[in-house]
Amino acid sequence: MSEDNTIISIEHISKRFGDKRVLDDISLNIKKGEFVTILGPSGCGKTTTLRIIAGFETPDEGNLYIGGNLMNNVQPHKRPVNTVFQRYALFPHLNVYDNIAFGLKLQGVAKDEIETRVMRVLKMVGMTDYEWRNVDSLSGGQQQRVAIARAIVNRPSVLLLDEPLSALDHKMRKDMQIELKQMHRTLGITFVYVTHDQEEALTLSDTVVVMNHGVIQQIGSPTDIYNEPVNCFVADFIGESNIFNATMIEDRKVSFMGHEFECVDEGFGENVPVDVVVRPEDIYIMPRTDKGQFDGVVSSCIFKGVHYEMIVNTPDGYELMIQDYNPFEAGMEVSMIIKPNDIQVMRKERICNTIEGEMIDATHIDMLGGEFECLPQEGLKAGDKVRVEVDFDKVDLTDDKRDGTCEGDIKFILYKADHYQLSVRAENRDYVYVDTQDVWEDRDIVGINIRPEDMRITKIEEAGA
Ligand code: ATP
Repeated sequence: MSEDNTIISIEHISKRFGDKRVLDDISLNIKKGEFVTILGPSGCGKTTTLRIIAGFETPDEGNLYIGGNLMNNVQPHKRPVNTVFQRYALFPHLNVYDNIAFGLKLQGVAKDEIETRVMRVLKMVGMTDYEWRNVDSLSGGQQQRVAIARAIVNRPSVLLLDEPLSALDHKMRKDMQIELKQMHRTLGITFVYVTHDQEEALTLSDTVVVMNHGVIQQIGSPTDIYNEPVNCFVADFIGESNIFNATMIEDRKVSFMGHEFECVDEGFGENVPVDVVVRPEDIYIMPRTDKGQFDGVVSSCIFKGVHYEMIVNTPDGYELMIQDYNPFEAGMEVSMIIKPNDIQVMRKERICNTIEGEMIDATHIDMLGGEFECLPQEGLKAGDKVRVEVDFDKVDLTDDKRDGTCEGDIKFILYKADHYQLSVRAENRDYVYVDTQDVWEDRDIVGINIRPEDMRITKIEEAGA
C-alpha cells in the first residue's frame, strides 16, 4: 500500500455530488515532510481532495491512508491532520493567546503546558509579544499567522492549507509565501496546500499536483511541470506558452508552422499528430538580416519590468508570444530560431471528438443533451448505442443558444498559435472540443450544431451481446 516514507496515500478515490463526478479515480502518494501543492482552476476538485484528507468528506470509491492506517471512516478530530482555511475562522471575542489555547483547553491539557506550547508556536510564526492582542486589531497577514499557530499547536503530522493567502493583498501574500516556506522547514511536517495560483504553487512546493475536471493531469517538481508539461492543459495553465498542432515526422524531427524542426524527443512513431509547446523565452528573435529558421513581423512590444514581451506574426498566419531582454518594436521584420531542447513534444489527448449517444430513429441521435440529425443509418434501430466521431473543426457554435441543437458552456480556451481550441460542456455534461478562428469568452453559453455529413457513426456493441 504505502512506501516507508509515505505519510498520505490516496488510492483510486472518486467522489460524486449528485450526478456530478467531482473526483475521478485519483491516486497520490505524499511523503513525510513534503510540501505538496494541489493546483488547478476553480471547480477542478482541489478542495474536495483536501476535505477528504481532513475527513470532512468521505470518498464514494477508493481508500485514504494516513501513516499507513485506513482513514475512510475515521472522524476528522481523530486524524493526525489540522486544517488552515481560506478565511481564518478565528474567534473574534478571544485574544490571540486564547484563540491558540482553545483546543488544548478542551483537551484538558495542563495550564503550564498550554502556556509553553502557545508561546512556542507564537515564536514559530513570528508573533511573540502579540499574545494579549485582540484578533480584530491584527492585519490579515497576522491573523493568518495566528490561524497557522492554532493549527500547529496540536502538533499534527500533516498541515492542510486551503488557499490560506487568498484574502491577503499582493505584497502581504508574497511576504507570507516566504514565511510559510520557512515555517515548513522549521516545523518539518508535511504541508498539503491548495491554490489556483500557479506562481504560488511553483514558488512554494516540492511537488505540484495539477488537476482539471476532477482528474490529476500531472504530478512533478515545479521545474518538471514547467519544462516538461505532459499535455496542453498543463502547458497552458503553468506559465505562458506557444502551443502548436504538430506532426512528429520521425524520431528527433517534428513539423509545425509549416517548418521542420529538430527536437530531442523519440518514440512517438512516424507521421503522428502531436502537440508542441515552446515557452516565450525559448524563441530566439533577431533582425531579419540575421537569417533564422523562420521569419515574422512584430505586431506589439510591451515592457514587462525585466523583459519585453513581443507578439510576432508569421506569413502563414501564426501568432507567437516571445520574451526577450531586447525590444523589437512593432513593425520590425524579424527572424527566429527554436533550439531542439526547447521544443516540448506531447502526445495528443485526442485527435477528434468521440461522443456517445443513442439512436432515436434511423436519422436522429440523442447525444450531448440534444436530438441531432444524422445521415440515414441502415442496420441501426432506435435504442442502439452509438459512438459518433466528429473533427474538432466540424463543430459549429452559435451565439444564441436557441440556434443550437443543444446548449453548451465554454469551459476552457486554449490558443494554438493560429486558432483557438475550446472545451465546451454540453447539456448532458459531456465535453466537445472545437477548433475555431472565432473569439469566444470563457463561460459563454452557446448553441452546438454538427452537420449530418460530418458525423462518423459506429455502433457500440453491448458487452456479452
Ligand atoms: P475552488 O478553487 O473554486 O474552490 P476547487 O477546485 O477547490 O474550486 P471543489 O471545491 O473541490 O473545487 O469543487 C469541485 C466541484 O464540486 C465544484 O463544481 C463544486 O461546485 C462542487 N461541489 C463541491 N462541494 C459540493 C457539495 N457539498 N455539494 C455539491 N457540489 C459540491
